[in-house]
Amino acid sequence: RAKERGKNAFQLFNKEMSVRALEQMLLENSLRHALERQEFELFYQPQLSAADNRICGMEALVRWRHPTRGLTAPGLFISLAEQTGLIVPMGDWILREACRQGKAWLDRGYRFGRIAVNLSPCQFLSDDLPAAIDAALAQSGLPPSMLELEITESAIMQNQQAATALLKRMRELGVTISVDDFGTGYSSLASLKQYPLDTLKIDRSFVKDIPYDADNVAITEAIIAIAHKLRLRVVAEGVESEEQNAFLRSAGCDVIQGYLHGRPLPPAEIESRWFAEGEKNAG
Ligand code: C2E
Ligand code: MG
Ligand code: MG
Ligand code: MG
Repeated sequence: RAKERGKNAFQLFNKEMSVRALEQMLLENSLRHALERQEFELFYQPQLSAADNRICGMEALVRWRHPTRGLTAPGLFISLAEQTGLIVPMGDWILREACRQGKAWLDRGYRFGRIAVNLSPCQFLSDDLPAAIDAALAQSGLPPSMLELEITESAIMQNQQAATALLKRMRELGVTISVDDFGTGYSSLASLKQYPLDTLKIDRSFVKDIPYDADNVAITEAIIAIAHKLRLRVVAEGVESEEQNAFLRSAGCDVIQGYLHGRPLPPAEIESRWFAEGEKNAG
């Protein structure tokens, strides 16, 4: 009987595997056409200054409006885009679209500080990145100081040799640089000082249980203290509760981002929720 069960399990396993492989193939195939079919959209999530609760940044977060799956989050397709190299043209579009949107908001008098754009590790390593950034800025007319590029800590650490030169070139273009998901990538806080950086984003996993998890409280406080000594701005991501917010503010965190203040929204909803006449965000 055991043998029989084993055999059935094996068949089931095989079947599941082929279903998954097929799904992956279909996904990859539709991803290849998504760009030309204009199925990608950027949502935006506000980042609020802890000092006065005003918007000081907007993070662009890509979404895929898949014809049958509907609105799809990046967790499902970014890594596939990286594996297939599709991330490069896709990342290029994201950069240009975010700059275009930022300039359009700027021209309409909306104040949002900076537009933050995520770069994938592949993009970060591509030789064409500085030219792509330059082109996106030039085409849109967005002032370089209003563009912040988010690079994950692990992308920097995997390419320590190239990273310093690359980050310097990006800085020379006038953009600011943020380290995303900080605390997850095995770099020592001290190693940060060799890179030209502006902002550290404390990873959501540390923010999750504060102020109740003593370890995460200690880690968060240490990151803030050393970041400030290195003259870096600190953003906390994934802030969902008033308790987290209060703790982070009293710990000296500069910027708060998370569902507590606002979820990522399409541009039109950002405008009505954050830039409407009442001017929540006005002086
Ligand atoms: P990330 O850059 O660390 O972005 C933060 C993620 O956390 C976003 O998920 C955001 O929606 C989510 N988030 C924000 N506040 C909260 C909160 O309070 N609670 C919880 N539970 N989650 C929160 P999203 O949009 O699904 O993006 C996931 C990841 O995909 C991003 O992590 C980033 O690594 C990647 N990604 C998103 N957009 C892009 C893009 O345009 N280009 C590239 N290369 N990667 C992107
Ligand atoms: Mg990010
Ligand atoms: Mg992040
Ligand atoms: Mg993250």
